Amino acid sequence: MKKDITTLSKDEIKDFCDKNGIRSYVSSQVYSWLWNKSCTSFSEMSNVSIKDRSIFEKEFLINNIQDDYEEISSDGTVKTKFKLHDGNFVEGVLIPKDKRMTACISSQVGCSLSCSFCATGTLGLTRNLTASEIYRQVVYISRKSMEVYNLPLTNIVYMGMGEPLLNYKNVLRSIHYITSEEGLNMSYKRVTLSTSGISKMIRRLAEDNVKVNLALSLHAASEELRKEIMPIGKSNTLEEIRDSLKYYFSKTRKKVTYEYVLLRDVNDSVEDAHNLYNYTKHLSSKVNIIEYNPVEGLGFEKSSFEKTEKFINYLLKKGVNVSLRRSRGKDINAACGQLANKN
Ligand code: SAH
Ligand code: SF4
Repeated sequence: MKKDITTLSKDEIKDFCDKNGIRSYVSSQVYSWLWNKSCTSFSEMSNVSIKDRSIFEKEFLINNIQDDYEEISSDGTVKTKFKLHDGNFVEGVLIPKDKRMTACISSQVGCSLSCSFCATGTLGLTRNLTASEIYRQVVYISRKSMEVYNLPLTNIVYMGMGEPLLNYKNVLRSIHYITSEEGLNMSYKRVTLSTSGISKMIRRLAEDNVKVNLALSLHAASEELRKEIMPIGKSNTLEEIRDSLKYYFSKTRKKVTYEYVLLRDVNDSVEDAHNLYNYTKHLSSKVNIIEYNPVEGLGFEKSSFEKTEKFINYLLKKGVNVSLRRSRGKDINAACGQLANKN
């Protein structure tokens, strides 16, 4: 069976060239076609000789992602369903806000963590995405942004389907291509990784000195409640997570963002707000309160206007750096936690 060449490193491509009598500068050309230009076939590699291309073609293929279905929300959000080479699907979203153009991308087909409020969680995990499948979502959405809004992509968030820290190697590699000259050459500051809180992997991120913005999906600041709505909390206690975030901050000096989805009568009382304040006060941080996007069949509702207001006012009084995020693309199920491949 042929191998997907995008899974090879630059050195591995060079080795292949050496072993097959191809001059070594060709490996740089091929590499550049794969990443800088995101090409989809060897025949596009116009500066590579036909003979050399055919040697590559015998051994390798280039797995691509294809836009299968697209919807535009009344608020301008564009959701794309991508078909992968093996027939699986993931979704990516372009979220416009004034001049800020954000790509929300997926890191896995489905997710293994089954948070009780999340649509992706109901799918289970099918497989990890490759670095190229993650990166090519960004490339696609970046082109879409120019095409629809005539504005370049400014931000990338790993907040689509999947838990990025459970596909660590490929996610890191995709960040490399997004932020280096080999790919899109965007600043690290533009990239945000959202995690449900796997402390061991947060530490690893700090050690690898990956200076992206880190968002922690907290959603409950009491141990019992968090375990109930986020099963991953059973093996990653709040204390362990907090320690790992402190470590991340000590290494990267980057403020952590806590995400907190307000679920009606579940985590939206003033006592919950107090717990949240208590938990987050130990670290220089921001808190994003997120409006819940109801998912059919899961039994959660968004918090009432009054409770939301009380919750936020409590945090403001305590001096917490808090903001409310209204969700986008709701009418097309493109909002956070609504990505579940239905159309
Ligand atoms: N797995 C990662 C990243 C993807 S989820 C994580 O959990 O952080 C991106 C964000 O959307 C997370 O904060 C998640 O908790 C939140 N989310 C999930 N379902 C949601 C829903 N129905 N409404 C609003 N936010 C939701
Ligand atoms: Fe997975 Fe994140 Fe959804 Fe939880 S919230 S099920 S971790 S995608």
